[in-house]
Amino acid sequence: MQKQLAHTTIELIQGDITKAAVDAIVNAANKELVGGGGVDGAIRRAGGEAIVQECNEIRKRQGGCPTGTAVITTGGNLPAKSVIHTAGPVWQGGDAGESDLLASCYKECLRLASENEVNSVAFPSISTGVYGYPTEKAANVALQTIRDLAESGTKVPESIQFVLFDDATYNCYVEALSEL
Ligand code: ADP
Repeated sequence: MQKQLAHTTIELIQGDITKAAVDAIVNAANKELVGGGGVDGAIRRAGGEAIVQECNEIRKRQGGCPTGTAVITTGGNLPAKSVIHTAGPVWQGGDAGESDLLASCYKECLRLASENEVNSVAFPSISTGVYGYPTEKAANVALQTIRDLAESGTKVPESIQFVLFDDATYNCYVEALSEL
């Protein structure tokens, strides 16, 4: 499924983000930038040591990646040229600023994308795995944040994909994009 928002096409795909042939894929990382499970583990395994090393250097230089912020590294052995790592919020019931922090992840990733000449980017469903953010709510935050940016005239990549691993997650994003 896809939808045009200003100069940006949003496309929903079911699959494995490590296979996405785009300028940059986004990693749902942790704020320490140390290897995790889920999509982070998959990206590090497929991308190889160069990604791990750059994450280690960033951690030494600036202490990591606080929740709601993002950093960029090489894509190593991935088809994608770069990986944008962002730390999503851990779901704590909804009253701990989770939606603002999740929106900030998408904004910061897209800001880094435009600063780095990234014309196509693929996102996973940030925070909805181990971090427990309800997927329906997270899909709305993700898509509404991108729509607001695209329609405000802010420079965003021409192609934004969501590569969603499982049926339930894919279906939540389809519903959210239909209602957008
Ligand atoms: P978080 O810690 O931010 O919750 P997770 O990696 O646990 O991150 O989960 C985020 C989402 O990424 C989940 O929907 C999970 O199913 C999905 N995911 C796991 N592996 C992949 C992959 N290879 N490609 C795309 N999405 C993936």
